Amino acid sequence: MPTYKILLTDEVDPEGVAVLAGEPQLEVDVVPTLPAAELLGRIPAYDALVGRSATRITPELLRAGSRLKVIGRAGVGVDNIAMDVATEQGIAVINAPAGNTIAVAELFFGAVIGMLRHLPHAATSMREGRWDRSQLLGHELKGRTLGVVGVGRIGSEVATRALAFGMNVVGYDPYVADDRFTSLRIRRAASLEELLDQVDVLTVHTPLTAETTGLIGQRELRRLTPGAIVVNMARGGIVDDTALAAALESRRVQGAVLDVYDTEPLPKDHPIRRLPNTLLTPHIGASTHEAQRNVAVDVCEAVRDALLAGELSRSINVATTSGAAWSDLQPLMQLVRRASSLARAVLADQGMRAVRRVALRCGPDVVGASGALLSAAALGALEGVIDSGRVNVINARALAEARGLELSVAESTQMGHPSAVEVALSGGMQSLAVAGLALPGTAPRFTRIGAFHVDVAPRQTLIVLTNNDVPGVIGRVGTLLGLRGVNIAEWHQARLAQGGEALAAIAVDSVVSEAVRKELLEQPDVLGATVVNFEPAEASASNGNGNGNG
Ligand code: NAD
Repeated sequence: MPTYKILLTDEVDPEGVAVLAGEPQLEVDVVPTLPAAELLGRIPAYDALVGRSATRITPELLRAGSRLKVIGRAGVGVDNIAMDVATEQGIAVINAPAGNTIAVAELFFGAVIGMLRHLPHAATSMREGRWDRSQLLGHELKGRTLGVVGVGRIGSEVATRALAFGMNVVGYDPYVADDRFTSLRIRRAASLEELLDQVDVLTVHTPLTAETTGLIGQRELRRLTPGAIVVNMARGGIVDDTALAAALESRRVQGAVLDVYDTEPLPKDHPIRRLPNTLLTPHIGASTHEAQRNVAVDVCEAVRDALLAGELSRSINVATTSGAAWSDLQPLMQLVRRASSLARAVLADQGMRAVRRVALRCGPDVVGASGALLSAAALGALEGVIDSGRVNVINARALAEARGLELSVAESTQMGHPSAVEVALSGGMQSLAVAGLALPGTAPRFTRIGAFHVDVAPRQTLIVLTNNDVPGVIGRVGTLLGLRGVNIAEWHQARLAQGGEALAAIAVDSVVSEAVRKELLEQPDVLGATVVNFEPAEASASNGNGNGNG
């Protein structure tokens, strides 16, 4: 039986160390955080390295670690790990995303109550010999309305605890199905605006994605009930700091509780530090002994299983490593992933964002790869919705199922070609199927979007336009795109019947902004316009983008 050597560093909790040390096949060395040069000298002897954020896992270190098979991160953030190089070297990277949940949820209440009862002032004034009772009249949580944006792991735990405090809780998360809200016993806001209109305390618990960057900006803050409190314990940038500063200065927002910032560590002289009515903490959401123990045990179990049983489902990067068969499959996997992203985007633009089912159909020539293809379909349905640093083609299915998505795969001989694939996404009464073909030696192509037959290669960006089949629409849309500097690579026009509804699948060479999409929608006879930028999401999903220290 082979034995494996593991280097544990950065004071990973002893309970985690015990998980590994208890295995006869594993030889464990526990060392303090080492200087980079010393670590570089030692790394060639090890099969795995487990640490926290203090040790930087550099490209140089990964390349020197010729025996390395696994990097374990006791925590969520993988910013300190050169993910691309780990992937390129075939080294699995495993993190522990769930162990921090309760720590953050509890800090939320500590900090919000601290703010409402002026605890920092009270404690400081006592140390300074004062007795400031009259200045320390606070507020209670009971009866106030909490708005939770992002009802995932942490958002759900915050919501449950808020109910115990007698708060009214309203949640906004377009990617979560109704029954989740029902089982949490919280009200669902149909839109962010609806939530903003009624909350006294606003808290965000989404990942930082293109969609959530600046989600709470000037417009949103203006919409809040005067005197509201804003909390960001998720990631810097979800609440726009500049807009928040202005709202606090004008007393439009009564107070803010922040644990995360655009730049960390927050510079010493940063203006946020001087704002009135703030309670600031230095990204300590996950800083409890219990959370550190949870993440250590969690990651060490996963590293043990990876080394001893080849279990890589917890790896966040392994999907992009390649053996020969794997690389042959890549064009088809990419097509399926893009078909799923496209279906999700079109449905989202039609108002259906809570996907419940992902159904894959495969022709007989490709059904042998259906497991990997279903992962690619799950990935397409999730990316841009959940923290993309944590989802890749290896773990997408497990993550999708954990979110209550039903995944299914079936063989079909009815798709016109034995190598055809089709991904159908559905939720509520709506569904959309996108089909395609990826044949060796030819560019992968979409062949059907809903009922419309198309023939278009999904390049960097695809625009899907629905319009009334009347003269002039193509010309107007083409002219508008030209004026906005968008170069059209391919345009496929399809219709079901003359004069009915038509669909255009337009592959373009550059990113298309939301402003251009809105302009498209304003054109006469245009009924819908969806823009899918495939490449940025795919890059971040495989790179494991910034998750900070949490
Ligand atoms: P999660 O993936 O379980 O939940 C995120 C939720 O956000 C999902 O339900 C998703 O559907 C929802 N969402 C995505 N886009 C949205 C949008 N545009 N509008 C509304 N909802 C949207 O993540 P989690 O584990 O609950 O973590 C939440 C956040 O907390 C993340 O940003 C994470 O990095 C951060 N975090 C911070 C600390 C800390 O130390 N302060 C510790 C752990 C996690």
